[in-house]
Amino acid sequence: MAEAEFDLIERIRARVAGREDVLLGIGDDAALLQPPPGRALVVAMDTLNVGVHFPRNTAPEDLGWKALAVNLSDLAAMGAEPAWCTLSLSLPEADVVWLETFLKGFLALAGQHRVALVGGDTTRGPLSVCVTVHGFVEPAQALRRDAARAGDDVWVSGTLGDAGAALALLMGDDGRLGPGEPALRERLNRPTPRVALGLALAGRARAAIDVSDGLLADLAHVCIASGVGICLQRDALPASPALQAALAEEPRLQLQATGGDDYELAFTAAADQREAIAAQAQATGTPLTRIGTVVVGERVRVLDADGQEWQPPRQGYQHFKA
Ligand code: ADP
Ligand code: MG
Repeated sequence: MAEAEFDLIERIRARVAGREDVLLGIGDDAALLQPPPGRALVVAMDTLNVGVHFPRNTAPEDLGWKALAVNLSDLAAMGAEPAWCTLSLSLPEADVVWLETFLKGFLALAGQHRVALVGGDTTRGPLSVCVTVHGFVEPAQALRRDAARAGDDVWVSGTLGDAGAALALLMGDDGRLGPGEPALRERLNRPTPRVALGLALAGRARAAIDVSDGLLADLAHVCIASGVGICLQRDALPASPALQAALAEEPRLQLQATGGDDYELAFTAAADQREAIAAQAQATGTPLTRIGTVVVGERVRVLDADGQEWQPPRQGYQHFKA
């Protein structure tokens, strides 16, 4: 390992906060961690590659935040409590300023959720960030994709399509998103992993998934894993004021149904859990919307206000309002 890489690792080590269950963190050949007795260890990993998962001009602080956020979102979708993470950095050069700025975003989110960075790897190569998160859940309470049942309600947290709109703009659509643009960009660059909601839903909801590839695509995974169909009410899909102001109805609905990178939780729950779930929405400060029903079947269908099946148009989103 080159001296420069050692310097970077030392800078990381100097800034991380510990936890009691980290017996040995950064600095040895591996970390020593003490999981709580009786709970399952939940592990997730996600990689962000430059030019594929984020544009080259992404601010390092946002990239640090997002690299951890997308992983915490996976734990939230399992109903797990986050505890530890590891970080593999591939960097074109040993840029100390870049690293310090990246860490600022990464560690800000880690601090919010008391996640300890316990190890990683630092190499030279094209810009790429790979994070692994570890958390805990009671095995019987985990929110799995295969647990939806016909008759369940389908819910989603927050709003849909904001990140997709910001991304469409970045990818060269020449429109503007209007006064709501900063809010939409914030959703793309700094997603909020729904950790508290996931914990509140563990043992209460049935199936859950985080919306990373688009609502319809992600719910299709639940349909396949659970052997069910899902029927959504198009006009129930939640939209932020910023998105409503930025886009006409058709491109907006398309982004809500198919835009990625929202990192909201979509989940199913028995109808007799409605009040309990609404109470958890209050307790965790997370807006929740009931958007459909689990049915006998095998795919996701979306119905418009007249009860007709609606298909999202493929190319709708270039029609920005302003
Ligand atoms: P080894 O050669 O044994 O893999 P490394 O030099 O790769 O050791 O890493 C030294 C220590 O620094 C290890 O504890 C490792 O987990 C930690 N580390 C390396 N890179 C990172 C990183 N990007 N983030 C956090 N810890 C890191
Ligand atoms: Mg190593």
